[in-house]
Amino acid sequence: MPVDLLAIAAHADDVELSCGGTLVVAREHGHRFGIIDLTRGEMGTRGTPETRRREAARAAEILGASFRETLDFGDGGLVVSREHELALIDVIRREKPRLILTSYPDDRHPDHRRTGQLVTDAAFYAGLRKIETSHPAHRPQQTVYFSAADVHAPTFVVDVTSAMETRMRAIRAYESQFHDPSSREPQTLLSQRSFLDAIEARARHFGFLIGAEFGEGFVSKRPPRIDDILGAFKNLEPGF
Ligand SMILES: [Zn+2]
Repeated sequence: MPVDLLAIAAHADDVELSCGGTLVVAREHGHRFGIIDLTRGEMGTRGTPETRRREAARAAEILGASFRETLDFGDGGLVVSREHELALIDVIRREKPRLILTSYPDDRHPDHRRTGQLVTDAAFYAGLRKIETSHPAHRPQQTVYFSAADVHAPTFVVDVTSAMETRMRAIRAYESQFHDPSSREPQTLLSQRSFLDAIEARARHFGFLIGAEFGEGFVSKRPPRIDDILGAFKNLEPGF
């Protein structure tokens, strides 16, 4: 059974930190989604690939993903090659998503940058019949990008107010990565308490832009079609 959306990121937790709410909202609207992590997270300062695999599975369950799959393209040096491109083309063809969500191809973390480029190219090539893999050609409607380490001005914002609690619960499933006062592992940028506060603040900021409590912003090369121009700006300028 095909998925409607496919979220593809370099590291388990990238999806939860950037577009988890949008996936939950899509599920609430009856859409199915899958998550592909391109690396096993073997370069992470805290945790091991095994603990991260367990945490990622738990987080996917909380979000309500139809499946989550981990590829092995190399953490901390993600390799962009024809071999990896073909592997990704085949996954896209197998799952037949209408929409792909991935990292913006310009980000401080090179793995995120390479992911954005690799996924963009694979999504296009997946539609070329003469590129043969084990599944028939399929091209998603669009690839849209979420902000990761760096924030980009969004083309559109999704209201994730109803999904924010679930999204934060999915993020906290990564016990080895985020703030845990009892952990003896080395402190990292992500394990500081202020990191999760910043993630919530970012969602508040994106939400504020559209008159919602929480939002997730996306960059799209083509603008989304608006069917109700007044509805699109409801809640803004309430009159005081
Ligand atoms: Zn990442």
